[in-house]
Amino acid sequence: MKQYDVVIIGGGINGCGLLRDLALNGVAALLIDKGDFSSQTSQSSSKMLHGGIRYLENFDFGLIKEALEEKNLWLKLTPHLCYEREFYLPLYTYSKYTTWMLQAGLFIYDFLSHFQNKPHAMLNAEETIKTVPSIDPKGLKGAGKYFDGIVDDAKLTLECLYDALLEPGIEALSYHEVTSTHKVEDGYEVSFQSTLKLHKETVKAKYVVFTTGPFTDQLLPKLGIPWHPQLVLSKGIHLWLKEGSIKAKGSVVLTTKDNRVVFVIPQRGAILVGTTETPVDQDIFNIKATHNEVKYLLNVLQQYFPNANLTEASIISTFAGVRPLAKEEGHSHSLGKVSRHHKIYRPTSHSYVMIGGKYTTFRKMTQELAQEIVPRLGRRYKPNLTLNPLRQHSLIPTFGPKPELTLDLVKKIIETEKVTTFEDLIQRRLSLLENPQHLKSVMGIPAEDVKRLFNH
Ligand SMILES: Cc1cc2nc3c(=O)[nH]c(=O)nc-3n(C[C@H](O)[C@H](O)[C@H](O)COP(=O)(O)OP(=O)(O)OC[C@H]3O[C@@H](n4cnc5c(N)ncnc54)[C@H](O)[C@@H]3O)c2cc1C
Repeated sequence: MKQYDVVIIGGGINGCGLLRDLALNGVAALLIDKGDFSSQTSQSSSKMLHGGIRYLENFDFGLIKEALEEKNLWLKLTPHLCYEREFYLPLYTYSKYTTWMLQAGLFIYDFLSHFQNKPHAMLNAEETIKTVPSIDPKGLKGAGKYFDGIVDDAKLTLECLYDALLEPGIEALSYHEVTSTHKVEDGYEVSFQSTLKLHKETVKAKYVVFTTGPFTDQLLPKLGIPWHPQLVLSKGIHLWLKEGSIKAKGSVVLTTKDNRVVFVIPQRGAILVGTTETPVDQDIFNIKATHNEVKYLLNVLQQYFPNANLTEASIISTFAGVRPLAKEEGHSHSLGKVSRHHKIYRPTSHSYVMIGGKYTTFRKMTQELAQEIVPRLGRRYKPNLTLNPLRQHSLIPTFGPKPELTLDLVKKIIETEKVTTFEDLIQRRLSLLENPQHLKSVMGIPAEDVKRLFNH
């Protein structure tokens, strides 16, 4: 039976981030995911590295400050995967904020970033219309401009994994479902099986860590880990709209009648719109946007951009994800108000569970866990190693100039970037939007030729 110091279950941003930190600290670890790495929540976010402008209302200054620091760190470390972009928050005569309140909020946001954010500014109505020509001019007073980061969420996760795999003693298995854990004297035996082939295996680990996001509450009792439900699950959907369907020179932040915010973020030759916040009543592994949720977002867009003639025909595709928010006794259970802080549990002497938090702060969260585990393995924890740049980049960068895609390059991507299926390639290695067109052609190569490479 193979032996590891740590087995991590769940290869989203938290699992891959933790694997990297442990790997850089010389720990031997195996990461296992039921599907492709980063194919669940960590590819379904609003794709922002941000402090969270709306958390200013909750006075959650500590979280905002930490998230802004992390945002600015990743902007420096991975400019091929993220970039800073201006966001415009329009103000109307009927808005709940006054100009003064907005200006004060944006100042605090910049202050909390130690003025590392590009500085905010206030626009009058005329300037706002010039910048966001599709905006409804009726009652418009102006807009606040501030800066946040846009990230390829799936790829940053994958590049943390590739970086970890450069260290000795590190392995990762996708399309393997963990089916049981068995406590032994000095650790755990972990059994898993392939979801694609007839392969089953059991390995031994001194520590088992669950970074299974929204799946945690369902999974742990099945695996025999002592566990009471700790999550508040909150579904969020997004739309990808056709490029040019809304005319705006930056991202736009819309406040909704039910006191939420919806972001409109042009990127990747399309416009990302989201998100919603509703309780979950579906299979969370295959979660999809419903017709009502799509209608809700379209209604918000139609209110702010009445002349853009947005309809379902403006939509390229939709996606949905589930926020794994950590429950807090005695705190608000309104989904938008549930804290974005994370929690780490130790249900048994040799197991850990991490839930909650935000994508933006994953490095800080996983650091807290690595700092706990590494000394227990008799090693001194070095906290600064994760500040180094990621060493293996994806062959096709998401932002900036891309090399021409050839079949040889696709073969190389499949070999070096842990690609198992056609969908892994399209969605997460090439960062293409879900679009029926890719069933015919993949960046100029006939899809059949590409698919043949997977017939092993
Ligand atoms: C709609 C939405 C918008 C968001 N927007 C933002 C944003 O803009 N910025 C931000 O900072 N954060 C954002 N977040 C939060 C962020 O996306 C999450 O906090 C983060 O992705 C959670 O990552 P994770 O690794 O914990 O979970 P996941 O990415 O879900 O990873 C868990 C993994 O566990 C695996 N797994 C489950 N069961 C098993 C098993 N039995 N065996 C093996 N593997 C298993 C799953 O396959 C999955 O890959 C958003 C979240 C949502 C839902």
